[in-house]
Amino acid sequence: MADSPQNVLLGLDRDELTLLVEGLGEPSYRAKQLVEAVYRQRVASIEEISTLSQQLRLNLGEKGISIGLPQIEKRFVSEDGTVRYLVGLGDGQSVETVWMPEGDGGEAGDGSEAGELAERFVEGTISGTSGAKAHTEQSEPIAALKRSATPKPQEDRGKELNKELNEDRGQDTNRHQRYQPDLRSKQGQNQGRSTICISSQVGCAVDCQFCLTALLGMKRNLSAGEIVGQVCAVLKDQKVSPPEDRINLVFMGMGEPFLNYENFVKAARLLVEEVGIAERRMTVSTAGIVPRIHDFGGERIRPKLAISLNASNDELRTRLMPLNKKWNLEMLMAAARAYPLRTREWITFEYVLLGGVNDGPENAKEVAELLRGIRCKVNLIALNPGPGIDFTTPGGEQVAAFQKKLRDAGIPAFVRRPRGRDIYAACGQLKRTVEIAAAPGL
Ligand code: SF4
Repeated sequence: MADSPQNVLLGLDRDELTLLVEGLGEPSYRAKQLVEAVYRQRVASIEEISTLSQQLRLNLGEKGISIGLPQIEKRFVSEDGTVRYLVGLGDGQSVETVWMPEGDGGEAGDGSEAGELAERFVEGTISGTSGAKAHTEQSEPIAALKRSATPKPQEDRGKELNKELNEDRGQDTNRHQRYQPDLRSKQGQNQGRSTICISSQVGCAVDCQFCLTALLGMKRNLSAGEIVGQVCAVLKDQKVSPPEDRINLVFMGMGEPFLNYENFVKAARLLVEEVGIAERRMTVSTAGIVPRIHDFGGERIRPKLAISLNASNDELRTRLMPLNKKWNLEMLMAAARAYPLRTREWITFEYVLLGGVNDGPENAKEVAELLRGIRCKVNLIALNPGPGIDFTTPGGEQVAAFQKKLRDAGIPAFVRRPRGRDIYAACGQLKRTVEIAAAPGL
């Protein structure tokens, strides 16, 4: 069961809202009005829901029920247009959510150049760019891959997995188009590829050695409403509204979504079915929680899958990502091979390049071997430096050489453009610090 904070509407689905209104002696159509107000209008208070009767608003208020829309506490604006939001939660905790007005080099939900190519590939507007070509070249062996859906999870194993890990450390929906909120002053103008990067936990337990968020440790999981609420708060602030405005979403902020699995999955469903963000424009990134990769393949609604690889062999990966002790590369690759990809879908492998550590030609060769036979692409990310991180950023030539080595081996590989480095908003830099108050744009 997903966690649902008491007395907050954000995070409740239609069935739950129906139960709520019926419990108050109201007809079930009131639930639909609440859905429209909470997820489409993105109101901040019950009083703003003019479709409800005065009496119902009073009743909800008397029961202490509120919307639960998170507060934007601070905005950090980058010189490249990226906005990093510090989003305040009900208990005083906060997380970071990032708005990238032009993505970070292409979309289709994963914020990569490859994503843009993929999008155009699907739309049939390209057939022979290097990325698409490489993909096409891979298609034959891929077609032979056996795809079998894995069963849906029978029980929530999130807490168990979190605990084990800590121990080891030692569709577009037409109905959306009926509502036309006034706030959409820029409706339909966002024809680009804006991307929202959202958090799934406060802090993170995974302890990747190159990540600033890891330095926070694990504070707590976000509820489904808090995950969806980040998106609603940013959409409202940016005055954009899907599906009219094209919005991509990546679950790549603070936290490991697969260690908060039920809430993440519920949030993804609400974002697709109620907020109106297309499923194909969403990507979730996991550090490699193998049992959850199997579970995720069986979900009715699921964003695209990205796996944070970052190393080419077990020894290196265990050093960089201690969770590799629990789920090593053999297990991870087996899960990736068994993952039931949909038509024109592939797995994205993310690889943070650390100067002199994992960026050599022998590493590229090992990565190509690991990924052989998997329908995938690789996003290369030169390390985003930060205080407390003991690695260096490789030079452009090194990055290009690594990319070429992969492409020569038939693996589509793309370099992600860093966004918002000046405000610590680029990938791996999300750390809940307000001492970065000296950043430009405040
Ligand atoms: S990279 Fe992701 S999974 Fe790893 S510590 Fe950072 S937030 Fe957690």
